[in-house]
Amino acid sequence: MKRDSFLLQHSRRQFIQRSTLGLSALAFGSPLLARSSYIKNSKENKLGIALVGLGNYATNQLAPSLLETEHCYLAGIVTGTKEKEAKWMEQYGIPAGNVYNYENFDEIANNKDIDIVYVVLPNSMHAEYTIRAAKAGKHVICEKPMGLSVKECEAMIAACDANKVKLSIGYRLHFDPYHMEIIKIQKEKPFGAVKYVNAEFGFRIGDPTQWRLRGDLAGGGAIMDVGVYCIQGARYATGEEPIAVTAREFKTDPVKFAEVDETVTWEMEFPSGAIANCTTSYAFSTNRLHLGMEKGTAEVQPSYSYSGLAGHINRKTMSFPKMRQQAAQMDNFAQVIKTGGESEVSGQEGLLDLKVVEAMYKSIKKKGKRVKV
Ligand code: NDP
Repeated sequence: MKRDSFLLQHSRRQFIQRSTLGLSALAFGSPLLARSSYIKNSKENKLGIALVGLGNYATNQLAPSLLETEHCYLAGIVTGTKEKEAKWMEQYGIPAGNVYNYENFDEIANNKDIDIVYVVLPNSMHAEYTIRAAKAGKHVICEKPMGLSVKECEAMIAACDANKVKLSIGYRLHFDPYHMEIIKIQKEKPFGAVKYVNAEFGFRIGDPTQWRLRGDLAGGGAIMDVGVYCIQGARYATGEEPIAVTAREFKTDPVKFAEVDETVTWEMEFPSGAIANCTTSYAFSTNRLHLGMEKGTAEVQPSYSYSGLAGHINRKTMSFPKMRQQAAQMDNFAQVIKTGGESEVSGQEGLLDLKVVEAMYKSIKKKGKRVKV
């Protein structure tokens, strides 16, 4: 196949195949059209999602995305902040019977409107609420990082298996056309094998009192928050599982980052000999996924944002219609539940990332010594 035609043919077809109707409406029409078609839609045949933890991500990304989904809708909320209840009920038409707090959360088991519980809490609470949701017989989407340790991830998978519910991790980029294209060229190898990956994601974190800087709630710093995107990126860009890592941490503000990592650079070694060179930081902005292939390069930059991604494969610019990653992600999970398949971003994906995270922290402790994954 000619290289030029590869990108054009495959990117468009792949985007159309993986898009939902809601996304197509967004892509080829106006956001207003997409929203009005939602309003006309009945909730029949859609799965009900309850968001747990109404913070930034739930408020500004997930709830608005649920207005554009084809296979699921916002059916309930779980919050520890009383004042948020009335606002959310009014804004999203949520009945009082579908509003829970952290104490009465387990009663969600008796609520037939709720099919999926979406855990959007601080990292240290992911395992507890995923396991409680599974015991309540609900399918679960859990935000990244899946848990604070491999042990927690294993317990979460076991709880979902034991209760015969599905588990998915909030890895939205698997549903973004730019990243789908990267996965495609890794699999089809039109430019040969991927031999090198450079993945970087960092931002300058503000408020020093936030939970992301507390070891007990976050379980780690930049690595746990945005470094996992680089681990993910390196894994799907190579299509391999790393065998070893070497990692070093750099701290410029030991007061602010007393409990968590600030900036970390690391290398991942893959069985084929491919290597990934990665950086994550809470001190500066960086946002890039670069592939060195046998016969060319590919790059997405910015790479991990919710929108505005850009990139190229060799000299060919990648260009895809606007879409909402979170709507595609949640619709995909709802379809998987309806059709009986398995989520492509299952608990196993989160677990594999945490294995790398644990190896990275070990390597940091050993001052950059190579640690097997
Ligand atoms: P926020 O701090 O904005 O929100 C967290 C919410 O959790 C709070 O608003 C609160 O909701 C609830 N909560 C319960 N207990 C606590 C506690 N002890 N301290 C603080 N909050 C508490 O965080 P984000 O929304 O930014 O992040 C939530 C999760 O989502 C994280 O795991 C994060 O990694 C992930 N995330 C994923 C993104 C992605 O792109 N996939 C992007 C952003 C975040 P309430 O008042 O309703 O109880």
